[in-house]
Amino acid sequence: MKISDVRIKQRSYEMTRDGYAFYGERLDNKTIGKYIAGWYAKSTGNIIERKTFMDRAAARRHFLDELGKPDRPEHDDFERDIQKRQLYDWEHKFIDPFAFEITRAQAEHIIDVVCADYHVEPPPLHWVESEDGMYRSHYDQQDHEIHMGHRDNITLLHELAHAIDKTNNHDTPHHGPAFVWIAIELYNHYARISLPYMMKSASNKGILGDVRAPTLLNHFNDRNGQLPLGQKFDEPASETEQKTALRQDIAPV
Ligand SMILES: [Zn+2]
Repeated sequence: MKISDVRIKQRSYEMTRDGYAFYGERLDNKTIGKYIAGWYAKSTGNIIERKTFMDRAAARRHFLDELGKPDRPEHDDFERDIQKRQLYDWEHKFIDPFAFEITRAQAEHIIDVVCADYHVEPPPLHWVESEDGMYRSHYDQQDHEIHMGHRDNITLLHELAHAIDKTNNHDTPHHGPAFVWIAIELYNHYARISLPYMMKSASNKGILGDVRAPTLLNHFNDRNGQLPLGQKFDEPASETEQKTALRQDIAPV
């Protein structure tokens, strides 16, 4: 069953999984179990962990209960790395022009500084020599190691964003919105790239996730389950502005 078969009453966006918890009314004229609650990934719209209910209040209770649980359902849909290409394009065009060459010692220093700031165990650095003129760099999640074939600060910060993201989030898209927010923060803090410049270009590229959707805190801030400040479900909540403001607060002057 797809989310397009449901009239959504309320939903909550989860940036780490790039998906939603929801409850709503089925459109297929079922009299038994007319209401449905569950989860779906933004990329597929397949309903996951669905449960049906006779009445709307029960479906809504289930929806709010799901939001209160610490664990989220695991599913391949929540791991699909669908915006990898867009992210690479964005970095190539908007971030790479700020790259400069670093030595191995500088790379190790950057790793130590960033990991101390983010309370992450510093991943060992493998300074890989290019064999065929092809540069390859990656973060090895299994062993928590960074392999650097490139010799620039931007590639290192990208791999460090993976290390921070994967320390906190598991079974999530490698280059999903949660990763992009971390990467932007690192590019701002440690490469001094302008935040509004990155926010605008990344937003235009559509890689920041659903910044308009209500999130967990919106539902918990209000006992009635309504959005705060008179926002309606389908109205854009200016979360981009809120998040921009938040990140400006924590960025060094
Ligand atoms: Zn990557």
